[in-house]
Amino acid sequence: MATPVVNLELCIGCGLCTELCPNVYELRDDKAWVKDPKACDSCDCKQTVDSCPVQAITLE
Ligand code: SF4
Repeated sequence: MATPVVNLELCIGCGLCTELCPNVYELRDDKAWVKDPKACDSCDCKQTVDSCPVQAITLE
């Protein structure tokens, strides 16, 4: 399973990924934090990768 990684320099803290996938992401200090990279049970985190407005999320 792919692991999502957030580039904190790119992240603008919009919160979209945390709304789409609260099991995987949470906001800490206005940046997205991957709290549980294995928690996605539907799309392997592709939805948040595709939705992030600044392409801050990659899969490794
Ligand atoms: S969607 Fe992208 S910019 Fe918005 S909080 Fe998540 S990682 Fe940051």
